[in-house]
Amino acid sequence: MLAVEIICAVVSCFANIAPNVGRARPAMEQLMTNVEKTENDWQDELTPEQFYILRQKGTERPFTGAYNNFRGEGTFHCSGCGARLFDAATKFDSGSGWPSFFEKITPKAVSEHRDSNHGMERTEVTCTKCGGHLGHVFPDGPRPTGLRYCINSISIIHEDDMEQE
Ligand SMILES: [Zn+2]
Repeated sequence: MLAVEIICAVVSCFANIAPNVGRARPAMEQLMTNVEKTENDWQDELTPEQFYILRQKGTERPFTGAYNNFRGEGTFHCSGCGARLFDAATKFDSGSGWPSFFEKITPKAVSEHRDSNHGMERTEVTCTKCGGHLGHVFPDGPRPTGLRYCINSISIIHEDDMEQE
């Protein structure tokens, strides 16, 4: 009888635990972005250069980007998620070697973050929608904003180039 009681006790114990076993885990911490992708997803979707810059906050070498000398109308979109980021009308030649804009297309399109890496105090700019790294913004731009959004060509796609894909 003792053995049966022990077995019953064990079964009862498991019965009490069982409802918790199948319970959903707490929701994973939501990223502060509107695009829910893992870094593995991004690595599969992006080119190695795009992944390095957008997701690992890399920087393309100056004067090498496709849009450094670009002169044209239209809109630049995020190369990670397609969000509209900059109007080509706000692009100017900063001489820095990277595409430069004096204004983002809407206040919320591009987010700004303090960046203390590499021994410098800078302001990083990212795509608000997907969190992709775009470049930095500096307070030495032309009027009317006085800002210089210094952006990697690899982080952006001109809309005409998007339609060709
Ligand atoms: Zn994006």
